[in-house]
Amino acid sequence: MKPVAIIGSGLAGYTVAREFRKLDKTTALLIITNDDGGFYSKPMLSNAFALGKQAQQLQSKTVEQMAAELNATILTRVQVSSIDTNAKTLQSSMGEFEYRQLVLALGAQPIRLSMDGDAAQQVLSVNNLDDYALLRQKLELAGDHARVCILGAGLIGCEFSDDLTSAGHQVHLIDPNHLPLAAIAPTAVSQGLYDALTAKGVTLKLGTSATHIQQQQDSGMLVTLASGEQIIADVILSAVGLRANINLAQAANLRTDRGILVDEYGVTSASDVYALGDCAQYRLADGHHTLMPYVAPVMAAARAIALGLTGQATAIDMKPAAVLVKTPSYPVALMPPATSYQRQ
Ligand SMILES: Cc1cc2nc3c(=O)[nH]c(=O)nc-3n(C[C@H](O)[C@H](O)[C@H](O)COP(=O)(O)OP(=O)(O)OC[C@H]3O[C@@H](n4cnc5c(N)ncnc54)[C@H](O)[C@@H]3O)c2cc1C
Repeated sequence: MKPVAIIGSGLAGYTVAREFRKLDKTTALLIITNDDGGFYSKPMLSNAFALGKQAQQLQSKTVEQMAAELNATILTRVQVSSIDTNAKTLQSSMGEFEYRQLVLALGAQPIRLSMDGDAAQQVLSVNNLDDYALLRQKLELAGDHARVCILGAGLIGCEFSDDLTSAGHQVHLIDPNHLPLAAIAPTAVSQGLYDALTAKGVTLKLGTSATHIQQQQDSGMLVTLASGEQIIADVILSAVGLRANINLAQAANLRTDRGILVDEYGVTSASDVYALGDCAQYRLADGHHTLMPYVAPVMAAARAIALGLTGQATAIDMKPAAVLVKTPSYPVALMPPATSYQRQ
């Protein structure tokens, strides 16, 4: 019998698989991922430095453990390159696979700012365990008090600023807005966070952005801001938002916007193809579609999609859920507006 196939082994892919296995213990389950398939909690990436956690310590289950737990075949470091929704097949770096139903749990890519200078390509982003390992490696090379420049004072940028400062590093946080979390928090909350981060030792450069990054002769990089100021950094981390992975869906003629459009059941414009997580743009009760790149929507969508995969079409029960901003200096719980498209 053809398997239920899931592309992606992040929180979305694995949560659907777990929910599906609660309902159906026997149908073949095929999970294809281009990472190593280990299970980890992505939200921990932005508060693990102060805890001294290595990348491997954040992985709670290996791919072998996941395969056993889910009674699934998991193909790792395999890239899916195209989908044929009529033939119900997909092409990958390991050849062609057939599916009975398909779940797209493809995640998102960090947005890269276009900047000048010979070190512009050295800017890092952290959206998975491999990225986190690279960031740790660069910081270790730079020493105990590395000079870190973080671009973007949204959720992720603020969380890393707090975390890396707690770990002993010297952080500059840069954002074109005049306060941190400006897109999603009330002014009083943003001001409170600004004061707490400043008191902790973070230097905030607001109302400006980085335009040019030049390698220094001795060590470090020279970051030039639009304001004309210059900062020396050993490590530059960009946290300016994510862009949903929609290319595969677009090429398969699925309906997309800023994410892969799904209806209230999590179904895309092709029958038997579902999408959830950071790649999906969910349909709200008022008919609008919105990205919801957070954990709680993944859980709600996974429960409904798992039922759909077993033939019990079920609407996603998308309840509003607060997102905790993991800044121990000033912990905040926020209701992200439904129209906020990008996790910053
Ligand atoms: C640093 C950080 C902190 C966060 N903190 C919080 C928080 O505190 N609270 C909260 O609610 N949310 C938080 N989030 C957001 C939350 O973690 C994400 O919304 C969620 O983990 C997304 O899961 P996903 O499975 O959709 O995507 P991903 O985890 O990105 O998984 C995508 C998967 O698809 C695979 N893939 C993609 N394309 C292909 C292909 N063509 N072929 C094969 N495989 C492919 C990838 O290898 C990967 O396995 C945070 C995010 C980050 C980056």
